[in-house]
Formats: sequence, structure tokens, C-alpha cells
Amino acid sequence: MIKLENIHKYYDSQHVLKGIDLDIREGEVVSILGPSGSGKSTLLRCINFLEQPTTGTVELAGKKVDAESAGRSDILALRTATGMVFQQYNLFKNLTVLQNVMVGLTSVKQLKKEQAKETSLEILEKVGLSNRLDHYPAQLSGGQQQRVGIARAMALNPKVLLFDEPTSSLDPELVDGVLATIKSVAEEGKTMLIVTHELQFAREISDRVIFMEDGLIVEEGTPDQLFNHAKKERTKQFLKRSK
Ligand code: ADP
Ligand code: MG
Repeated sequence: MIKLENIHKYYDSQHVLKGIDLDIREGEVVSILGPSGSGKSTLLRCINFLEQPTTGTVELAGKKVDAESAGRSDILALRTATGMVFQQYNLFKNLTVLQNVMVGLTSVKQLKKEQAKETSLEILEKVGLSNRLDHYPAQLSGGQQQRVGIARAMALNPKVLLFDEPTSSLDPELVDGVLATIKSVAEEGKTMLIVTHELQFAREISDRVIFMEDGLIVEEGTPDQLFNHAKKERTKQFLKRSK
């Protein structure tokens, strides 16, 4: 579903991604772990060209795009195939919960209002927000706002969902509700790539865990391989916190 080949990213002279290769099957749930500054967010954002990789190729749902020759329609195809959930929710403050989820369907997908509403209501039910449809973001807890963010990403039915530290802005008591929501999406068989610091969660939800440091994938494997039998000292050290 996703195939990255030799992705490099420079910000000016700073070499942030140093040759990333990654192959993700349809329906696979992959967590990316690693210290702050290791390039995790940049990697996610390079998949849909929110950041343009400097060199390398991104293949997504059968569409292959070379960083150095990507055109507008290539980038649009990558964007359409992905939904992204951000640490800071990024909701429209002047729209209600229902409108936040509907807006992509009426604008991007050009659905009729009634149809967009029907789809949105279904998804908001899944994330447990049917009783908050007419609330504005400011009237919601952080956890509820993030569940709107997840609903909005799901509404467009992307091939792949990308999560960038979806619970890092939340008060501790709100984290579990959002993690449960992400877990229920994963159980529907969606292909997902999740950057997270919630090690226990990554361990439970992932088919595969990737440990990144300094712009490179240091080690990857099943949760059991990484958490219990890591080969690299650096991985062991980082994951010790989860025991
Ligand atoms: P992580 O998500 O693992 O914390 P990031 O991908 O955010 O790491 O950042 C990796 C490195 O790239 C950091 O040194 C960061 O300062 C730098 N960086 C990230 N985004 C930008 C940007 N838009 N412009 C310049 N440097 C950036
Ligand atoms: Mg980050």
C-alpha cells in the first residue's frame, strides 16, 4: 500500500531523513517510535508531500511519485489517498463538530449535503460524538476535539491514515479514550502509520514497530521482536521505558 524508496530530506543544509526505505501492506498497522528530532514527523509528511522529499520515491496505492519530478496531479493523488491526524487537531474553530466532518465531503468530494451529512453522522457515531454534533471545538475537551480530527480524516475514506502524535497534546486522563478510538479504526482494517510516544499502545495495536533515530530506521520488527528481543542497544535503551 505504501512503498518508500531511499527517501532523503534536507531542510537547507540539515539532512533530516537519510535514506528511508519502507514497505507497508494493505491493512497493516505500523507504529513509528523514536526520540524527538529523529525525523518522524518529517517522514509522515513526506508520504503525502506536505513536505516534499528532496530525493526518493513514494508509492501509494499503486501511484508512484518521484520526489524530483512530482507534478501537481501526482501530489493531489497522494493527498487524496491519505488522511492525517495532527497533534494539534487543526479543526475549523468556526464550524460545529458535524460541519468539521462534513466540509471535506462537500468541498473535496463534492457530495450533496444530505449525503455528506449521512456519512458524517455515521462516522461521528463510531467515534462516540453523536451527542456533540452542534458543539464548536472550543466547547469540547481535547480528547473530543481529537476524536473529531479522527472522524474528519476517516470521512474522506483515504487508503491510509497517518497519525502524528495524536495524544501528545492531551491531558493524561483523556489519552485512553482517543487511543481506544484509534484502536477501533485499526480493527476495521485500515492501513495506518502512527507516530506515538505511547509505547504500551504501540505494542498492543501494531503489526510492526519501527524505531527511528537521526533520520534513519534503526530497527523494525513485530512488537515482540522490538520490545522483547531488540538487537540494537539503542533500541533496547529507548524501549526500556515501557517495561
Ligand atoms: P520528530 O517528529 O521525530 O520530533 P521532526 O521530523 O519534527 O522530528 O524534525 C526532524 C528535524 O528536522 C529536527 O531537527 C527539526 O528541527 C527539523 N525540522 C523539522 N521541520 C522543519 C522545517 N519545517 N524547517 C526546518 N527544519 C525542520
Ligand atoms: Mg514530530
